Amino acid sequence: MTTHQFDVVVVGAGGAGLMAGLYASRGAKTAVISKLYPTRSHTGAAQGGISAALGNSEEDNPEWHTYDSVKGSDYLGDQDAIEFMCYEAPQAVLELEHMGLPFDRTPEGRISQRPFGGHTNNVTGKPVRRACHAADRTGHMILQTLYQQCLKNNVNFFDEFQVLDLLIVGGKAAGVVAVDLATGELHVFQAKAIIFATGGHGRIFEVTSNAYAYTGDGAAMFLRRGLPLEDMEFFQFHPTGIYKLGILITEGVRGDGGVLINGKGERFMPNYAPKVKDLASRDVVSRAIYTEIREGRGVNGSNYVYLDVRPETVNKFAALDGRTNPDGSPYIVTGEQILQKLPDIIDFCRVYLGVDPVTQMMPIQPTAHYTMGGIPTNKFGEVVIDDKNTVFPGLYAAGECACVSVHGGNRLGTNSLLDLVVFGKHAGLKAAEYAQQAGFVDLPGSPTAEAEAQFDRLRNGSGSENGFDIANEMKKVMFDLVGIYRSEAGMKEAIQKVAELKERYRKVRVSDTGKIFNTELLNMWELGNMLDIAEVVATSALNRQESRGGHSREDFPKRDDQNWLKHTLVWKQDGKLKIGYKPVTITRYQPKERTY
Ligand SMILES: Cc1cc2nc3c(=O)[nH]c(=O)nc-3n(C[C@H](O)[C@H](O)[C@H](O)COP(=O)(O)OP(=O)(O)OC[C@H]3O[C@@H](n4cnc5c(N)ncnc54)[C@H](O)[C@@H]3O)c2cc1C
Repeated sequence: MTTHQFDVVVVGAGGAGLMAGLYASRGAKTAVISKLYPTRSHTGAAQGGISAALGNSEEDNPEWHTYDSVKGSDYLGDQDAIEFMCYEAPQAVLELEHMGLPFDRTPEGRISQRPFGGHTNNVTGKPVRRACHAADRTGHMILQTLYQQCLKNNVNFFDEFQVLDLLIVGGKAAGVVAVDLATGELHVFQAKAIIFATGGHGRIFEVTSNAYAYTGDGAAMFLRRGLPLEDMEFFQFHPTGIYKLGILITEGVRGDGGVLINGKGERFMPNYAPKVKDLASRDVVSRAIYTEIREGRGVNGSNYVYLDVRPETVNKFAALDGRTNPDGSPYIVTGEQILQKLPDIIDFCRVYLGVDPVTQMMPIQPTAHYTMGGIPTNKFGEVVIDDKNTVFPGLYAAGECACVSVHGGNRLGTNSLLDLVVFGKHAGLKAAEYAQQAGFVDLPGSPTAEAEAQFDRLRNGSGSENGFDIANEMKKVMFDLVGIYRSEAGMKEAIQKVAELKERYRKVRVSDTGKIFNTELLNMWELGNMLDIAEVVATSALNRQESRGGHSREDFPKRDDQNWLKHTLVWKQDGKLKIGYKPVTITRYQPKERTY
């Protein structure tokens, strides 16, 4: 066993982890630990853009961005944090630009912006161009840019090290335990401050846009250490995943004029959102697609519809909608322009479907996309542990694994990349500031005991169960019963099934006994995390008896502010889940009915 000592340790090297690492390293000796090579993190898959009210193409301001995000969150987002993020956004994007991020440009040389769901001009109610983009690979560019900056600033990287446990001693963060994937050796990292930036847990669902690494490791470690998770019932289903595969087709396609078409060849979004139509927020569009399918208007009676971005369709509906360019001329696109704006998704469709989006429609279905809930933090990235927002000394979280909460019941597209940059930065600053005045906490007598016990159980199970079968059953049950539409009977069945799967998981035995890159062992360890998280998601969802944002109950179809305008907190105590609540911070915007 090797022991390291750093002032600040960051777990995760996606957009949030790299931003946190960069800022922490300016004031403290910092290490970033990542189970993936940093530039393979899921941030690199982000396509459409990062939001900021720069107003480069048309009038916009951070106040509208704030209101849109509050409304998009279905009033569950904490308004102080949302306002903070939206007002920091222009500066954050300009900082990325100055670091060298190659954004697309307007003819005048400013950062180019495209419309995205839920982002509006608050006066006219029409979509506004707020998403700054680098073609349809904005996340890739952010990740590369931040990684270069970290290397330049001599951040210490531990690549392909998987963190297995969080060490807490006397109510303070003490360090983490990780395994070096190349050797199988355990390493202990003693740290004054620890920042979690481990991403989400979309892999608990059968059809998902999320990377294989999205197994909820960070949240599961917090849960096992008796710390609470917030709003875990809220998970976003993105309307446009490639049929069956779940691979994401960015909302930027609809931003650039693409429309949704049902099996009868009709554009259906105007029936659900007369004003913003195909650019309503994601929960609204996902439910609309699902309703079309349920009422028999899927393509060929199947469970998919079409996304159509062929120039003739785009131009026809743009003319009908009266869409114009910033200079007032009619909005018209050519096949070549579509290719230029959306190169990656066109490639995905050609490669995975044999469909060419310039001349053919894309078959799509909603796909599990984004984890709104997670590790509770305040707007400085400090982990908070109760309804009074008491700060836990030395612990920080940022990015998709955290719940600030700026996304509340439903995240607006392009607000996540913004969340990473803004809160990653503040978590890094706060952690360094804390480390400058705090001492190291003594490590426990055998710091690796818990991690070793977890591995031993997986090596010594009876072997009568196959972990991959368990994973597949869990994913199916979560997608079918705790997915876009939920009901009491379905969720009770899901909770029961997950409990059975957890029992069966105890019998799994890993057949690979080697130490070097033992991916089977790590996959099975991750399955344990996913089962723990699935249980929390289903239990929180059953508990919330209303519909709000991404949480849609058939038996409680209305939002109920009287009883449910509050955050859920879940703890695990003595093997059982305990539920509590926390008030929502409301500053300027009283809850109203959402209309689009
Ligand atoms: C296909 C797709 C497209 C998207 N498009 C957009 C978009 O256009 N705009 C937008 O705003 N948002 C978008 N999102 C959402 C956004 O990209 C993500 O929410 C965001 O990138 C998450 O960043 P992160 O830093 O929190 O996590 P990640 O980038 O996933 O990084 C997580 C890091 O944690 C590490 N890690 C995890 N567990 C462990 C462990 N146990 N030990 C060590 N390291 C660990 C991983 O190695 C990784 O480095 C998209 C998401 C997807 C899936």
